[in-house]
Amino acid sequence: MPAVTVNGRTYRAPQEPTVIICIDGGDPAYFQHGFDRGILPALQRFREQGVFTTAKAVVPTFTNPNNLSIVTGAPPAVHGISGNFFLDPESGTEVMMNDPRFLRAGSIHAALSQQGTRVAVITAKDKLRRLLGHEVQQGICFSAEKAHEAQQAEHGIDEVNALVGWDTPEVYSSQLSEFVLEAGLRVFERYQPALMYLSLTDYIQHKHAPGTVESDRFHQCLDQYFGAFDARGAVVGITADHGMNDKNNALGQPQIIYLSQLLSTWFGSEKARVILPITDPYVVHHGALGSFATVYLDPTVAAHQVVGQLKTVAGIEYVGTRDEACRLFALPPDRVGDVVVIGDRGTALGKSPAEHDLSLLEGGLRSHGGLAEQAVLFTLNRPLKAAYRQQLATDLRNFDIFDFALNGVEGGASRGSA
Ligand code: ZN
Ligand code: ZN
Repeated sequence: MPAVTVNGRTYRAPQEPTVIICIDGGDPAYFQHGFDRGILPALQRFREQGVFTTAKAVVPTFTNPNNLSIVTGAPPAVHGISGNFFLDPESGTEVMMNDPRFLRAGSIHAALSQQGTRVAVITAKDKLRRLLGHEVQQGICFSAEKAHEAQQAEHGIDEVNALVGWDTPEVYSSQLSEFVLEAGLRVFERYQPALMYLSLTDYIQHKHAPGTVESDRFHQCLDQYFGAFDARGAVVGITADHGMNDKNNALGQPQIIYLSQLLSTWFGSEKARVILPITDPYVVHHGALGSFATVYLDPTVAAHQVVGQLKTVAGIEYVGTRDEACRLFALPPDRVGDVVVIGDRGTALGKSPAEHDLSLLEGGLRSHGGLAEQAVLFTLNRPLKAAYRQQLATDLRNFDIFDFALNGVEGGASRGSA
């Protein structure tokens, strides 16, 4: 089957069954801890025989921008998905970008499916399903969250629960990710897709730091699935959409800068509109609090003045104008406000206290969105060709994973009985 060129990069059709996995919230600290304790045998093997390193995620370090970057091999400036929400300048309303009409680029797996590669995509939450399933031909695409609703006509599969042998899990549970992997394994065996993309959820990582019983148990479970795909002969490439950090003060309470409140004190009420692109219908585990915000200003307020003022606030790691931020982080300017603000490792950004329900956050806040959550794992179960080994030393991105898995691994079809 011929190669495809997608967003300026060329990808070989899979020479062997290939499984790409995005661990939502896959902070390297979880894996370092797991290696130290010796509880991740499959990843340990990948580290010895293949690749285990870190790569940089896309900023904002949120789920949708990074999942779309991973499957398009390109930054948000190209695919258009800069967060879960943007402010539509025409209607003045906050619009959720979970619909394919907001996509400006095609995905690698969709292009391969159009050439006859059999593709399967499974997501944890349904919010990603339609974006990731866009233009996939004759493939399978469903979410764990709505597994019971999968229909042949729309999802390319039905009776998912019977195939997996599990009921549809709760949205707020570790089982949602485990369901994706168990379903992935069953689909892999039953339908033999040449290319799979499995995208998990960060429920555990928002609640449990590295080294806790819960996070250890979860990562051991993931490791068993990675080992199972490896044992079935797949090329396995794993990365993450972002890391995860504690955002709490010395008392263990959420450390938050309330931007709307601050800006109305400085510039008067209704002069600035703060958008938190982490906001989505699933706010229970983070209270819509991440470390990235974008601010739309009234024309009477100058962006450089807001930037200057915010630079004096402790806990803000970066603040810049739209132009500067879009250049630095490769974002689409028409979906970003006049000013971009990023909280540091220990600080989240909110609107005003009344707009966030902190009572949802038992045990403090762990979240993401900023530069401190950019480092993610990047691992493959196979050795690399020399040219790709050299690339590991350069500015590796999480959205290089398809390139590495499809073009960069040693062996290919001839590996056979090796
Ligand atoms: Zn995520
Ligand atoms: Zn999250």
